[in-house]
Amino acid sequence: MTAPCYLCGKDAIVEGLCNTCYDEQHPLMEVSTPLAVLACKKCGSVKVPGGWKKIAIGEMNAEELADAQMDIILEQEIKLFHKGITLSLEEVKKLDRVTHIIVTATGQSHESIPPHDEEHPVEIRFSYGTCDTCGMMSGGYYEAILQMRADGREISDDEKKELTKRVTETTVARYKSDDKAFVTMIDDNKFGIDYYIGSEHLGKELADDFESQYIAERKENYKLVGEDKTGKKKYRITILIRLPRFSIGDFLLVSEQPCQVLAMGRGNLTCYNLIRRDRFTINPKNPKWRTIQFLAPIADRREFMVVTHVFGQPVQIMDSVNFDVSEVEESAFDSEITSGATIHGLLVEDYLYILPDQTELDDTQKR
Ligand SMILES: [Zn+2]
Ligand SMILES: [Zn+2]
Repeated sequence: MTAPCYLCGKDAIVEGLCNTCYDEQHPLMEVSTPLAVLACKKCGSVKVPGGWKKIAIGEMNAEELADAQMDIILEQEIKLFHKGITLSLEEVKKLDRVTHIIVTATGQSHESIPPHDEEHPVEIRFSYGTCDTCGMMSGGYYEAILQMRADGREISDDEKKELTKRVTETTVARYKSDDKAFVTMIDDNKFGIDYYIGSEHLGKELADDFESQYIAERKENYKLVGEDKTGKKKYRITILIRLPRFSIGDFLLVSEQPCQVLAMGRGNLTCYNLIRRDRFTINPKNPKWRTIQFLAPIADRREFMVVTHVFGQPVQIMDSVNFDVSEVEESAFDSEITSGATIHGLLVEDYLYILPDQTELDDTQKR
């Protein structure tokens, strides 16, 4: 014989209450209504205590964006009182800037009571403004100028494209974690290309990346640009990255020996020594680094076709442009010699060096 529920008289289950009365006295969740959503009209970010929560909009349409914005506010406003509760949302009515939804929580208010649904109607009111990031961006804010230059030559359009792609990718990757991860301006000028970057941190990260990727020279310079409201001095950094004169495929003299650049990256240069016919890597810490001289651009490379090859005799090759036929010692080749094959060479002081297989190089160039 169980005691009756002290509220309604049915059989009591927990703490002198029946299931229904216990559930009513112990809600699964709490949320206030109406809820205000302040969203950035430009990027969709939602104002939350202490800042703006960014949304990776991607391909979202307006409705999906509104849902994502609502989720941010609900996640923040809904208080759950029990473990293991699942939530579902249902849109009831949608006006221009007001959406009525029903939040349904499903779960148990007590372990000895079966799960039940609890419905909470919520009204969500949208308003729109400009977030900190978009405000700074449209105000032309920047903390760093990343100046890309090249040593003794111009930066090619392909290089500029590649650099800009990297700047964009890194900026997008930092977008959610860094409020100032944006590029205010790109100045493509006769000296090179300059990126005006919102965050000094991002500017330095990009500079680190380019310095190591291209084994470039780096110079930093801080300039006083004023004081903030508290009288603290504000500086802006200019980072100059000077790309080497050479790029992949070009020819260098390293310790006076002709070499071809096969790869660059992670602070290392991979070269092929045309005399020794082997690969080696070198970096600015190596004493030989200072002996590097520019020899010729990749454009000086010549293409030949192997005409005939009789074992033990010089190989006959024909220039693909002027059809001149010349002979090269077998020992100049480091791979199998096949008639009809395309090979490349570089003429240095009247001596023709046969180059290593250029397929890999030409593939990198095309990318
Ligand atoms: Zn009851
Ligand atoms: Zn914004």
